[in-house]
Amino acid sequence: MLTYTPDPERAAAAAARQCYSKFSATKAYGELTQEEIKRLLRKIISSGHLSVLEHDSFTFVVEGISRACSHQLVRHRIASYSQQSQRYVKFDELEFIIPDSILNDEESKRMFLEGLEGCKETYRRLLAKGIPAEDARYILPQASPTKIVLTMNARSLLNFFELRCCLSAQWEIRRVAEEMLALVKGVAPTIFENAGPFCVSRRICPEKKYTCPKWTELYKKGCGGAPA
Ligand SMILES: Cc1cc2nc3c(=O)[nH]c(=O)nc-3n(C[C@H](O)[C@H](O)[C@H](O)COP(=O)(O)OP(=O)(O)OC[C@H]3O[C@@H](n4cnc5c(N)ncnc54)[C@H](O)[C@@H]3O)c2cc1C
Repeated sequence: MLTYTPDPERAAAAAARQCYSKFSATKAYGELTQEEIKRLLRKIISSGHLSVLEHDSFTFVVEGISRACSHQLVRHRIASYSQQSQRYVKFDELEFIIPDSILNDEESKRMFLEGLEGCKETYRRLLAKGIPAEDARYILPQASPTKIVLTMNARSLLNFFELRCCLSAQWEIRRVAEEMLALVKGVAPTIFENAGPFCVSRRICPEKKYTCPKWTELYKKGCGGAPA
C-alpha cells in the first residue's frame, strides 16, 4: 500500500458521531476512545450507513499483473487509476504473466511461449523500423505486464472485495484483491472485519454456486440461505 487516510477508523467514526449527535467531527476525532470507534463503525456498517466509509481512502501500487487483469480492475469505477502507458514506455524486456494452467502443461506451455516469442519479436522489429510505440503495442498480448496505482475509498473496497475475492472471480484479480484485503485489514481491522466475498460479508451466495468449497464450508457452519 502506498498511502492511506491517517487513522482511517477514527476519521470514519468521527464523521458518524457527527451525524448522530450535536458534537462536531473535530471534537469527536480528538476524543473518541478505541471502544467507541469500534462500536460506532459496527453500527454504521450493520445499518448500511456506508457513505461514512467514503472518507477513508487507500492507495495501492499493483505491479506485475497482466493487462488481462488490469482491464478487469479498471472496471471498478468508484476509484482512481494511474497506469503505466504502453504509448510512452517502450518495453525492452517483457516478462509475461503466464497462468498456472498453461505453465503446468508442457505442451500448452510450449505453444504459449512460441506465441509470446513471436509477439515480442514482431514488437521489437516494428520499433526498430520506427513504428511509434503507441502503434507497435497493438501486437502485445493480454499477458503483457503492467503497473497501476489505484485509490479506492473504504466503501468501494468493500464492494470490490465482495466481487473479486469470490471464487467466481478470475484467479489473477482474486489474488490482487486478497492481497489488498490483507493490507487494509492491517490498518482498519473493524471496517474490514467482515470484508470478503458475499458469502463472508453477507452470508449469501448471489452466484448460487452451492458446490463452491467456500460456500460449502460456511453452509456447514450454519450460514443462512439453504442451497436451492
Ligand atoms: C465474476 C465476475 C464476472 C464478470 N463478468 C463480466 C463480463 O462478462 N462482462 C463485463 O462487461 N463485465 C463483467 N464483470 C464486471 C462487472 O460487471 C463490473 O463492471 C465490475 O465488477 C465492477 O463492479 P461495480 O460496477 O460494482 O464497481 P464500481 O464501478 O466501482 O461501482 C460500484 C457501485 O456503484 C454503483 N454504480 C457505479 N456506477 C453506476 C452507474 N453508472 N449506475 C448505477 N450505479 C452505479 C453500483 O452500485 C456499483 O455496484 C464481471 C465481474 C465479476 C466479479
